[in-house]
Amino acid sequence: MSCEDCFFRVNLLCALDLTEPCATFRPHEAQLQPPQQMRLVFRQERRSRAAWAFPSAQEQAALHA
Ligand code: SF4
Repeated sequence: MSCEDCFFRVNLLCALDLTEPCATFRPHEAQLQPPQQMRLVFRQERRSRAAWAFPSAQEQAALHA
């Protein structure tokens, strides 16, 4: 592992003049590609009951009666 193998040095993105690789060393072969994201899967079934709902008209009427 040396700065000559670092993505930043190879792509002329490093402005540091250090004698040994720093903490941001990334191997040139990695190409700094982000990890693959998880796939978004839509559920087929719907929730039968919402966690919260407006009160019904009857409940509102009873509340203000
Ligand atoms: S970023 Fe760090 S490890 Fe990479 S070339 Fe620059 S000094 Fe070296």
